[in-house]
Amino acid sequence: MIKMDAPNLLPGDVFAACISRIRDPGLKLKMESIAHLVVAASADFDTLAAQTRLHQFVRQAIVGGVVTTAEMEGVYTQRMAKKSAPGRDAYDELFNSAPNGKCPLCGHRTVSTLDHHLPKAHYPVLAVVPLNLIPACGDCNKSKLAALPTSANEEALHPYYDNIDGDRWLFAEVVAGTPAALRFRVQTPANWSAVLADRVALHFKTLGLGALYSAESADELLNIRGQLETLHAAGGAALVETELLERASSCRMARMNGWRSAAFEAFADSAWFCDGGFSLH
Ligand SMILES: [Zn+2]
Repeated sequence: MIKMDAPNLLPGDVFAACISRIRDPGLKLKMESIAHLVVAASADFDTLAAQTRLHQFVRQAIVGGVVTTAEMEGVYTQRMAKKSAPGRDAYDELFNSAPNGKCPLCGHRTVSTLDHHLPKAHYPVLAVVPLNLIPACGDCNKSKLAALPTSANEEALHPYYDNIDGDRWLFAEVVAGTPAALRFRVQTPANWSAVLADRVALHFKTLGLGALYSAESADELLNIRGQLETLHAAGGAALVETELLERASSCRMARMNGWRSAAFEAFADSAWFCDGGFSLH
């Protein structure tokens, strides 16, 4: 997961923009009457998320006793996400906030939507709250859809709040075969809390990151195989290992738990791989 700065957008401003073009006076009044609840919910979200207590966020199907879940979902889909909707500027700002346009959840695919960290179908008051909206790829968004945390260790990682790149947690190992493959795994440091370790493991599993990273590293191997063959012919396994370690080190500087860092390290660690295991013959 890629850490991101929390957005500067204010929840009250975003909600006001979204409901600004409602023509039905009754609906507009109803929406205006819950504006303070949206702002309060954002503040609650901020407090709870910082303490891994979002599972305690109170779910309410009818916001303030007047606005239904369907109506709040409509505010998001019709008045924020839709092109030329009054809340679309806020949507675009969040959409474009991911570093290099990469989905912060998988750290690999490109952003194509906004993910509701707590799903709007169950937490309608958070439907347009910026802190609850994360730029994400479609696959991560779909994988997360049903997630309803019931305890701290079931809480999905949140890029605005969780920073898990202080330590190594993503590792890989070579699976000997033709072609060679990689198996990725999560291994969290002993000094982490059990809750954080569970959350990272859940993140990896829910989003199917093992399969994604294995497929991407197979593609990477395809691209460097020729170079490794040249190095091996010139200086044997030692030269191949040196090259792979340099790549691992360079990738690690950019992203400590990026799949490339883990992949190059695992390749370099395998004597079998460095001594020709990378080859197709
Ligand atoms: Zn993703």
